[in-house]
Amino acid sequence: MAELSPHHAVYAGSFDPLTLGHLDIIRRGSALFDRLTVGIGINPDKKPLFTPEERLVAIQQVVAPLKNVEVLCFEGLTVNFVRSCQAAVMLRGVRTLTDIETEFTMTLANRALDPAIETVFLMASEKYSHISSSLIKQIAHLGRGNTAEQLKAFLPPELIESLLSKVGR
Ligand code: ADP
Repeated sequence: MAELSPHHAVYAGSFDPLTLGHLDIIRRGSALFDRLTVGIGINPDKKPLFTPEERLVAIQQVVAPLKNVEVLCFEGLTVNFVRSCQAAVMLRGVRTLTDIETEFTMTLANRALDPAIETVFLMASEKYSHISSSLIKQIAHLGRGNTAEQLKAFLPPELIESLLSKVGR
């Protein structure tokens, strides 16, 4: 079996869309590890707002200044994707106690599936811990007034226009 690098981490999620909270984890992860792969999970059971290709292009644009970060799409189990990258670390962000509970169960399941892969958690920064992709989608759909301006507090500015046009605003 291929050797896994402890200096390479994979940060996987739906990123539908990428939020300032996700970006904060990416920045901090890229400072901790030699290499960080952002994995966009394609889940056939979810109906995302953005196609995997749209998310790939958007995230690549935002992380372009971070030279040790790459962005890929994947299908199937995250642990299998992490192994296919030859990374030994799965990076996760936690916002709340509820997140910790869910992540704890998921980590145990992942460890049973592939004990060689370690999960590392970064606590969300205080100023981003209330942000989620679903909240952003709600604001984009239902916001009143200058929604573009309001969205600046939640997602990278480069992504605001495409989000608003996606929801027909
Ligand atoms: P998933 O489909 O796995 O829920 P997400 O795209 O929502 O994917 O999240 C990916 C990862 O980022 C998860 O570890 C999640 O806990 C973390 N995360 C989500 N939002 C934030 C945030 N605001 N701050 C820090 N971490 C976050």
